[in-house]
Amino acid sequence: MKRVKNIKPWLFLLFLLIIPTGLFTVVEVTSLSDQEQMIESIYANQLDAVLYSINQYADDMVSSWSNDIHRHIINENNLSEIERDWPQTNPQVEYLSLIPWPGDSISLNDQDNERSELDQEIILRLQQNFTDTHRLFTYLRGGYRKIAGIDLDYNKHLTMFVFAVESDGNKYVCALVVDARRFISEVLSPRMQAVAADQLVLTVRHHSSGELVFSSDFNTVPETLTGEQAIWLIPDYFLGIQPVGMTIRDLARQRAMRNIGLIILVDLLLVIGALFFYRSVRRESRLAKIKSDFVSNVSHEIRTPLSLISMYAETLQMGRIKDEGKRYKYYDIIYREAQRLSGIVNNILNFSRIETGRRKFHFSEVDVNEVINTVLENYHYHLEKHHFQVEKELDQTIKTISGDREAITETVINLMDNAIKYSDKHKWLKIQTGLKGTFICIEIMDKGVGIPQREQTLIFDKFYRVTKGALAHHAKGSGLGLSIVHFIMQAHHGRIEVDSKEGNGSTFRLLFPIDKIGKKH
Ligand code: ADP
Repeated sequence: MKRVKNIKPWLFLLFLLIIPTGLFTVVEVTSLSDQEQMIESIYANQLDAVLYSINQYADDMVSSWSNDIHRHIINENNLSEIERDWPQTNPQVEYLSLIPWPGDSISLNDQDNERSELDQEIILRLQQNFTDTHRLFTYLRGGYRKIAGIDLDYNKHLTMFVFAVESDGNKYVCALVVDARRFISEVLSPRMQAVAADQLVLTVRHHSSGELVFSSDFNTVPETLTGEQAIWLIPDYFLGIQPVGMTIRDLARQRAMRNIGLIILVDLLLVIGALFFYRSVRRESRLAKIKSDFVSNVSHEIRTPLSLISMYAETLQMGRIKDEGKRYKYYDIIYREAQRLSGIVNNILNFSRIETGRRKFHFSEVDVNEVINTVLENYHYHLEKHHFQVEKELDQTIKTISGDREAITETVINLMDNAIKYSDKHKWLKIQTGLKGTFICIEIMDKGVGIPQREQTLIFDKFYRVTKGALAHHAKGSGLGLSIVHFIMQAHHGRIEVDSKEGNGSTFRLLFPIDKIGKKH
């Protein structure tokens, strides 16, 4: 039994709950920046995948154009006509130039002045990228028509797609000049919209000027884009990706905050749960203690009168007491102690009736002065035995009240009993009746040990006993008396008050409301 009492619930909770959750929280919080990086890398990978898919798409489109041009060359053989007519079929294509290859000098077709200026730039670019251009034929021989994207200075919006074509042993370099913006907005944008769906914002920015050329959602264009990368065929245009509504960093932070929030919430719930658990364990152990105290106190309370009764009864039975007066005194003691015993048992039974809601009151006209006189008469021997000095000041003008005589007697007995029990050297008590405002009042005063201020509201709770102070350890009791008095006063629509100071005695006041008063005495 002792061991159960020694378990410290808070220590148990600390080890079982708070330390593990605390550690978990610390680990989670410290790993948050790792998580942030992980999310960033997930998006970087996603960008790679999206970029690859867009590039592949662009490549497929231009490949299909190159196949078509190749077919035209095989079928028509008239290069100038193809150069003139084919661009008409594709609005994004501004210009087509088929340049015979190889040759130390890359020859031009006859063109008008403006066009030849563009052609000159095309030739210049091809010369600058001669090796790369030459390699296009190597790829072609290997069965793969590679398409190269080369920027033009001629107009910042123009770019050219270059690929090799071979027909009847003749080799040509085909330069398709396209408007990059139109290519992006008309050819690539449907694909980009499909990839972006609702979750991503895809943007294309002209790298040299920084100008935003395309966004899958112009309403939420992000200010900064992480991981922009050049589009293969139009290398001066960069593709960027961002989750809708926020940057990747924001997203990582938001997730981190959500995780921290969840952790804190879980911690809070755990702590609240632990507190409830702790409180209920404490309440249970307090209740267990109160119950065991109650049993030991009550047993003691019962044992004292019982042993007195059996001792005096035995003495009388042996017939040793010859003196009539003494014999009478012993009978009286037996009677009084039996009365006291029945008082204790009554208290317990009363309490049990109150608890189970079975306590009934029978109201009639009650003269409180008369109740007090009877109680004092019955308690005369008991008070004398304890050398108590009793003062009585009854207001004879007060009226009768409507109440339960037996219950009111019980309240007075309980309060008087307490005054006797909790008095030390000053064995004095006073009972007074009178009118107090709209109440008829009974006051029972003592010069006993008194009650500490903080305990004064608790003493009316069932089983509650003051466990510290002068008499606490000697005076036995059940802790039920005052809770029964409190209950009886409520049933009479009245109340009980206490004035007390530790070491300076107590005054208990029973107040019965005047509107419950019956006839004039
Ligand atoms: P019990 O007397 O059986 O312990 P009660 O309910 O009558 O139970 O009283 C509750 C507690 O209030 C007592 O344990 C005691 O500490 C305190 N108390 C009651 N009356 C007095 C009094 N007159 N003087 C000092 N303390 C008192």
